[in-house]
Amino acid sequence: MSNILEVKDLKVAYGAIQAIKGMSFHIKQGEMVALIGANGAGKTTTLKTLAGMLRPAAGEILYQGRPLSSIKNYDLVRHGLALVPEGRGIFSRLTVTENLEMGAYSRTDDKAAIQADMDRMFNIFPRLKERAKQLAGTLSGGEQQMLAISRALMSRPKLLLLDEPSMGLAPIIVQKIFETIREVAKEGVTLLLVEQNAKLALQTCQRAYVMDGGKITLEGEAQKLLHDEAVQKAYLGE
Ligand code: ATP
Repeated sequence: MSNILEVKDLKVAYGAIQAIKGMSFHIKQGEMVALIGANGAGKTTTLKTLAGMLRPAAGEILYQGRPLSSIKNYDLVRHGLALVPEGRGIFSRLTVTENLEMGAYSRTDDKAAIQADMDRMFNIFPRLKERAKQLAGTLSGGEQQMLAISRALMSRPKLLLLDEPSMGLAPIIVQKIFETIREVAKEGVTLLLVEQNAKLALQTCQRAYVMDGGKITLEGEAQKLLHDEAVQKAYLGE
């Protein structure tokens, strides 16, 4: 399988603060890859850069074989790149349905296909269906996370970037969200998952990168990392 994403010696800074200090990694078409690491390691910065929200100071990002910088920010979603940001970023003054419609804004296929996808989201998350007309800002944290993921899926992404989907959620909701993530992956969507919950991330994904201080310090098959003593000590609380 070819690489959907290839990152070479990426550096990203916030003014004088170097958040990413030379990072290389790749994601193959259809893969589920986790990015784990301690607070401040640079995981969110990495996702924001991939989503075009931050400009690299150096390095190369190839998305589907072409430089990411050659795609305008507003066009990234149309090219299949979607981010579910940390803190969710839903439109709180719009209803659940309106949020989902916004997710599909870049699509050029017909209304029926979009409606079918919306029904699919409501099927996966009946909670959202019951609240279709409710303002998104009044949803619970878990419901907002469900909406954020559904909204991203409405764009029919090829590569979905997920930032901390488990954050602040009750275990049963986390389970449901991760079930959905696995289903989405089965349907062929490529996933890059940033997670504080390293164990869950490694149990879910095929491959993983461990970040520390703006660099990748370890990489490999998720199952292997799950049983790696250093990883267990540093990230799995074992
Ligand atoms: P967490 O798990 O805590 O969310 P993270 O791995 O996602 O951490 P980042 O949010 O990418 O880490 O932060 C990486 C580094 O960049 C940190 O040292 C952070 O303080 C710094 N940083 C992040 N955003 C900014 C900003 N807007 N301005 C200055 N420094 C920033």
